[in-house]
This record gives sequence, structure tokens and C-alpha cells, in this order.
Amino acid sequence: MTRYALSPNLMTLLMVVVILVFMVWRSDNVSQSCVQIAQSWNKAVLVAPMLLWNERLVSRRGVRQRFNPRRNAERRVRRYVSWKRRQPKVSRAVRRRCREQVVRALLQTSITNPTGQLKLGRPQSQSKGGVGKRGIGGVTEPQTDPLAELRQQRGWVDQMSESELWAILVRIRWPHGPVCPHCGEHDEEYVRLLKADYRNGLGRWHCQVCAEAGDPGEGGTFTPLTGTLLAGTKLDIRTLWLLVETFADSQASVKASKEAGVNRHTADRTFRLLRAAIYQARSTEPIVLGPQDVAECDEVYITAGLKGGAGGLTLEREARKRGLKRRGTWDSDRLPVFGLLCRGGEVRLFVLPNVQTATIRPIIEQMVEQGAKVYTDGYCIYHFLSQAGYQHQVVNHSAGEYARDLDGDGHYEVHCNTMECTWSWLRPMIRTYRGVSKVYLPLYVAQFEFFFNRRHHNHWNRTLDVLQTVFSVEGSQVADLLTKVEGTALAQICPVAG
Ligand SMILES: [Zn+2]
Repeated sequence: MTRYALSPNLMTLLMVVVILVFMVWRSDNVSQSCVQIAQSWNKAVLVAPMLLWNERLVSRRGVRQRFNPRRNAERRVRRYVSWKRRQPKVSRAVRRRCREQVVRALLQTSITNPTGQLKLGRPQSQSKGGVGKRGIGGVTEPQTDPLAELRQQRGWVDQMSESELWAILVRIRWPHGPVCPHCGEHDEEYVRLLKADYRNGLGRWHCQVCAEAGDPGEGGTFTPLTGTLLAGTKLDIRTLWLLVETFADSQASVKASKEAGVNRHTADRTFRLLRAAIYQARSTEPIVLGPQDVAECDEVYITAGLKGGAGGLTLEREARKRGLKRRGTWDSDRLPVFGLLCRGGEVRLFVLPNVQTATIRPIIEQMVEQGAKVYTDGYCIYHFLSQAGYQHQVVNHSAGEYARDLDGDGHYEVHCNTMECTWSWLRPMIRTYRGVSKVYLPLYVAQFEFFFNRRHHNHWNRTLDVLQTVFSVEGSQVADLLTKVEGTALAQICPVAG
């Protein structure tokens, strides 16, 4: 390269002189050549340096000759401008509105832009990007969210220590102090706390009576969960609380699993357990106690076929029927739910294989004391009530009658609208679960009845009631219920088909 040691300026000058001489030599007369020189002066000045050899102008090996970023950029701009010209005209007002929308969106992103990566719950797109990188007015500093750590939590449960949460659960289990689940001993002398920090605060107790009797159980020791439906659960206490809370909120298990950050099968199993406990703990006591009380009876039909392998039943079936109308039975995939309520009191619901006098008579006789007022619609299955010793009144829906004033005081007391109103709450609740198998329908109806009778309680109290119900299941039923919840035998818990 040392052969070309001339400076570029000197070479430019030399080249211009050569071109001038060349043009003068080619032209016919000098004056014309002067004009030509003047005209092509600008071109010459531009072109001359390009003609000169320069080390930078020589393309390296392997580089595309025609690749020119500057020209490509110009070409892109030209293409964009011509495309833009071809677009339909947009009014100034519309353009302003679009601009404002973009600015508003950017501003909002800058306010709620968390810096931390979230493990659960929030979508990924919100946690990265945003204004931090390319903001308005050239803001390049990363935006730090002061609540980033808080946003990674799942609610109030993550605010409390595990031992505090266990303490609430233990208090629900033993409201009057620890009781040995094996022998029922509760004397503080014989039952003492062995290990307080077992499972981060659940605790393990020792029963001297069982230990001396050589009880094989757990060597005379027990935890508050021993002998309950929650025995052997591997869920940590925070997740357990969260699942029970979402259950008390009547959410579907898939949604609850996302909320709690666990597998959906885990949430589903827990929910089945809670539902089975509620079904098991239903009361069989009468709710209408005498002539002073008023009972309303009605029935509704829920479309529910077989679904999946529910109840261990084979899938050799036709497609599920949809859009069924009118009354139905277990066989026609439109199950009757019989409802009975005491005005100002509780509701009891029963899923039946069919609605006949023979099916509902034992239920009414068990739940309603003789002599009570019973109001129904005109369905013939209720005709037995007058002979059975009840003050039966009928509202004739087919004649357009929905309420009747018996004693002429202006108060229309004969109606079954309270019961019919209940159905308008049952239907949307069942719809939450997007198609319930008819095998499990009684469980869902029992769950609805449980929460409907507590509809005036607050959410916290409903959660406590669920846990209390779980712990109230008798020790002898627990093992049976647990095996059925695990397997396909759940249908045996609530046999509808008889
Ligand atoms: Zn004991």
C-alpha cells in the first residue's frame, strides 16, 4: 500500500486538472468548452473523489458489493412515503385522538410497571418492557416499582406467619383445647404438647393414656389433623387456607389453582374433599316445626348427563343432550331437584331420580311437622298433602295465578315465589362449573345449599364454616370418604339412581 502515498486532497486536485484538460481537448472551441466546464463543474467535483482510489472504497472479500446501508435506508423512506401517500385521508381530529390514546397508554404503563418477575398470577407481558426502555421524552432510567415484592404475594395469607395460620386451624379443630383423637382424653395432665414447631407450627401432642395402653397409632402422639379429612395432606397451610377461601367463594377449581399457584388436580382433589364433607354433614332434622311455620315446595330440572369417566361409569354413551326442556328424570339426563324451605329459615335441596309422590312424600314427612302450612304449585304430585294432615294451599300457575290473598287483608301470603327465587341462584352457580356430571350433581347441590343458607354471613365466616364442617365428619366415616374421594367411587357417596 505504500506505493500510493499521495494524500487524498492532492490527488483530487490532480484529477480535476486531468478532467479539465481532457474536456478542453475534446471540445471544438474554447468558449463552448468553458460553458461545458461550468455546467459539469458540480458533477465533476462530486464524481472526482469517487474516481480516486481510496483504501476504504475497496470492498473486503466476502462482503456484498451492492449492500449499501445508506441507500437502503433512503429506499425504505421513499417506499414508506409513497405508501403513505396512497393511504386514505385521516382527519386531524382522528389523528389527534390516536396520539392521545398512545400517550395515555404509555403513561399508564409507567405507573403500573412492576420490575420484579412474578411467579404466579400476573401475565408476563406486564412485568417486562414498558416505559423503562424507551419512554416519553427520552426517559431511559428503569422504573422501579416500590410494591414489586408485595405483588409477588397471593393475598393476606402470605402476610401472616405459618404458625399463626396453623393456630387458627387448630382453634377451629379444638375450640375447647386439645383432645386425643384415639381415646378422647382431654385432661391437660395426660395430653401435653410434644413438639410445637412440627410442620412450622401445626404441633404434635402426646397422649399418656394411649402411650401406656400401647396404642399402635402414632406411638401415642397425634396432630390436630389426625383422624380428620385433612390428615396426610401435603399442602402447606397458606395454600390450604387459600383453597378453602376460593371454595367458599364458589369458584371453579381451575381458577382456584391459578389463584393459589398449585396444580389443578391438587385444587380439584381438595374441592372434592370439601364438597364430600359438606354432603356428608347435611342435616336430616325437620326445618318446619309446626302450624305457625310456612313451608314452600317446588322442583326444578337441571340438565346434566354423564361426563368423562365420572363415577367409574363406562363411556359407551351417546353425545350429551343439550337444550332439553320441560320436566325430566335421571334417565332423560334432566335431573329433578326438589326444594323445600321454611319462610324466614333454611332451604333443603334433594336431587331425585324422578319426581313422584312416592319419591317426595318421605322427604316432606321427615322435614315438615304435621299441621304446618305448605304452599305449592298445582302439580299433581302434591295432592296427597291435604290428606296427610298439612294445611295445603295451591297457586295455579297455569291460570296465571302466582300469589293469593287468603284472608282478604291485602297481604298475598299464598305463593311459592321464595322457593322459585332460589332456583335463579342455583342455575348460575351450577353454570360456574361448565357442565356437571349427573353422578356428582348432588354434591354441587349440597354445596349450593350450604352456602345459600349462609348467604347473610360474611366471607370469612363462610370459610370458617367450611373448615368446621370438614372437621365435623365422624372419625369412622373419614377413611371411607377419603378412599372414595381418591378413586372413582365418589358416586357412591351420593347415589341418586338409588
Ligand atoms: Zn389417647
